[in-house]
Amino acid sequence: MKIAEIYKSVQGEGLLTGTPSVFVRASGCNLRCWFCDTPFASWQPEGTDYAVDEIVAEIEEWDCRHVVLTGGEPMLFAELIPLTEALRASGRYITVETAGTLFLPIECDLMSISPKFSASGPDPARFPHWHRRHARQRFQPEVIAQFLARYEYQLKFVIDRASEIDEVDQFLGKFLNIQSDRVLLMPQGTTQEELAVRSEWLEPICQERGWTFCPRKQIEWFGPVRGT
Ligand code: SF4
Repeated sequence: MKIAEIYKSVQGEGLLTGTPSVFVRASGCNLRCWFCDTPFASWQPEGTDYAVDEIVAEIEEWDCRHVVLTGGEPMLFAELIPLTEALRASGRYITVETAGTLFLPIECDLMSISPKFSASGPDPARFPHWHRRHARQRFQPEVIAQFLARYEYQLKFVIDRASEIDEVDQFLGKFLNIQSDRVLLMPQGTTQEELAVRSEWLEPICQERGWTFCPRKQIEWFGPVRGT
């Protein structure tokens, strides 16, 4: 399994914001979002091949119950099955961060699904192959339905423009019984300034609709710095 980085930090996004966690970042992604904040795990995947027991050994160097398996797209790697089984056996709380396009029957306490909208695709003129591939793969309703049925979940939408709220509604309308407080809207941006501009209109929309506004606290705490 190709790994870009393993490090301990504090979860900065979502329902577990503030929780000390070990992050394992798989390198590789089947999508290519233009705003990807981890291009070293998608556009130019970096890293080293690790065996499952090597990953477990690195995680065990920290005294930390929460483990976040993130990417890139961790669901690309079948090794996630034995890895999550080993983490479950050692009593860890497992969060998996995924775009929700690929399914693996893994052990997981919180499935953090971040679906991607049509506007997330890369520039069609510069990246025609990836634009088509992204458009074809970014929404896989049968995968999302399996996640919602099998796991505790949060649905984390990265919002760039107010017009994307319609796409949130369309997405939610395709599934039954989604808990509104598990719907998290997060402003797009990698600087405090960008986040502040979008938060101004996004936070009131969340309050109005009963969704959870999701700031990116890691940008506030650490800046757009790798390994945080
Ligand atoms: S799905 Fe996530 S990791 Fe993959 S390109 Fe999009 S933002 Fe980056």
